[in-house]
Parts: sequence; structure tokens; C-alpha cells
Amino acid sequence: MDVNPPCDARLLLDGDALVANWRDFAACGPAEAGAAIKADGYGVGARDALLRLAAAGCRRFYVAHWHEVPALLPLPDGVQISVLHGVADDVMPAALALPAQPVLNTPAQVALWRQTGRPVELMVDTGMNRLGLAPAEVPDLAAGLTIAVLHSHLACTEAPAHPLNAAQLGRFADLAARVPAGLYALANSAGAGLGPAYHFDLIRPGVGLYGGGLLPDGRPSRTVAHMAARILQLRDVPAGSSVGYGAAFVAARPSRIATVALGYADGYARGLSNRGWALAGGVRCPAAGRVSMDLAAFDVTDAPPLAEGDWLDIPFDPEAMAAVSGRTSYELLVALGRRFERVWA
Ligand SMILES: *Cc1c(COP(=O)(O)O)cnc(C)c1O
Repeated sequence: MDVNPPCDARLLLDGDALVANWRDFAACGPAEAGAAIKADGYGVGARDALLRLAAAGCRRFYVAHWHEVPALLPLPDGVQISVLHGVADDVMPAALALPAQPVLNTPAQVALWRQTGRPVELMVDTGMNRLGLAPAEVPDLAAGLTIAVLHSHLACTEAPAHPLNAAQLGRFADLAARVPAGLYALANSAGAGLGPAYHFDLIRPGVGLYGGGLLPDGRPSRTVAHMAARILQLRDVPAGSSVGYGAAFVAARPSRIATVALGYADGYARGLSNRGWALAGGVRCPAAGRVSMDLAAFDVTDAPPLAEGDWLDIPFDPEAMAAVSGRTSYELLVALGRRFERVWA
């Protein structure tokens, strides 16, 4: 029996918005724009994002783990995957077999990869104290290596005036003058917005491709993901009655409540309880009560007539959702669930 039931929750993905966002990064200077597609393309789907961005001209893609690489294959011609976490002993056989290269972060990783004779990308820690080689150790470690890309990563790009931005830029520029590499790369999405001095040869935008944060010219990133969920039940509740777990919503007037097939298991964050909204015929319908695992309720009293089985649009502008949920746009995007039917337009 070939049974494939329809899904009552859809993630509607706007491929044109994704590509337009990337083009704005690619157009912001002479620097090439890659794309971070780690964490399943920030929740939207890494392979779908890769194929669309590769067709638009993106050549360099970044994931965190080797484990993320097989799902991206086969790669379009000319496309390269780099693995930000580098290599370890147990990953070497897979790393040598897969069409991807590591970004090396520690002297031990450099020693391991040096034996392969393959080109390397190096990550230098210029002040974040997270991942990467110390600038002072790079010249010695680099001897005899062909460095395809020398990277560093900025800690404070969301606070443009933070002194660490300029300090990291200065350390990276000093090192770039001393260590030959094919390309130099420093900026993530918000780093690109700090100006051309931060761009070097290659930028690595992530969240800005997927609707979070700003484009390099300061406009908001275009929203890529929208949710839609089926109304499972409609009910009329009298003033004074409550909706959902914890009785966290109490109707102030006689209200019509739509319960839809969408919950925090789908990435509709619990922080959107009583704070999110759906749209019905252009009317904003506030979330009524707590978002539960599989269900959320919206007050559709003011909406045009709806029926059980209708779909509600649930906009998912990551920054707008971040502002009301107490989560960041990054967290909200990467939490997009696996249960959705993902529909690319
Ligand atoms: C995730 C990541 C990026 C992308 O960062 P955004 O803030 O999402 O643009 C760039 N570089 C490195 C090293 C990363 O880990």
C-alpha cells in the first residue's frame, strides 16, 4: 500500500527571497559571497538552499560538521563545501572520501591534515577566544601549506561600535600581510554591514540569507520562511473562559478560537504564547494562550468567516518573532521543525 498522508502544517519557503538576499551580499563589494548552510541551512533545508544559491552563482558553502556533508551530495559543478569544525582522527577516512575540505582550528588539526598534502583553510582566533589558531602560531604552522583561505570570525558584529570589532580587524589585517593565502575572509552577515574594510576577499553570510538581521546596505533581510497550518477545530467561547494549558488566555469578550496544527515541535516557539499572530484575510489574529507541542490557538473573532479545514497563514519574520518571543532570530530559524511539509516557491 502506498499511503502518503497530507501534512497539516506547511513551511512555505521563498526561494526568490533567499537568492535576492544572497545577491545583496554578493553585490556589496568586490568580495566574493559564500553562504553558511550549517544546521540544515538555518532550518530552511541545507540542500534546497545550496541548490538555489549555487544556481545564483554561490560557490563556497559552510557547514559545521562532516556529518552534514553527505546530505548535500551530489554537489553542482564548481561548488565547494568547507567544514568549520575542522578534522579529528576518527573523521579522517570520511573527510578524505567526501568532496569537502576542513577549516582547521588547532595545531593538532593542522598536523593531521598536513599529511594529506591537500589545500587547507585556516581559522585564526583574533579575539573571540572560541575556535581558531593563535595569530602568533600561524606563520610557523603555515610553512609548507597551501592555504586556500585564511579565515577569522568577529565576536561583536551586532554592536558596530564595540571596540573588539576594530581590534579584530587590525589583528587580521596584520596577519594577512604576513601569511600568504589564496583568499582572506573575516565577515559574517552583520560583519559585512560594518563596511568594506571588513570584507577582504570573501564574506560568509548566514542568517542574513534566511531573513534574520540586516543586509549589508542596512535594509532588513527578506523573510524566507512562512508557516501555514490547518484549522483543526473552531469553537466559540464566552467571556471569562480560558484557552489551553495553564489557562493562560482568558477571553475578554465572547471569542472565536481556531486551534491549528502547529506547535513548538514545529519551531513555533513557546515564547510566542499569547504573543504571536496569524493572518486571516489580512486580519491579524493574536495567539490565544500557550503554544503547545503540536497545537496553537488563535483568536479569530475579528477575521472573515473561517471553516474547520481552512489554512491560517502564520508569518515568520525571524526578527519580528524574536522581538516578541525573547529568542534570537538564529534560535528561531534553526528550531524550524522536521515535521512540516516544506514547500519551495
Ligand atoms: C555561522 C558562521 C557564519 C555565519 O554567521 P551569521 O551570523 O549567521 O551570518 C560565518 N562564519 C562562521 C565562522 C560561522 O560559524
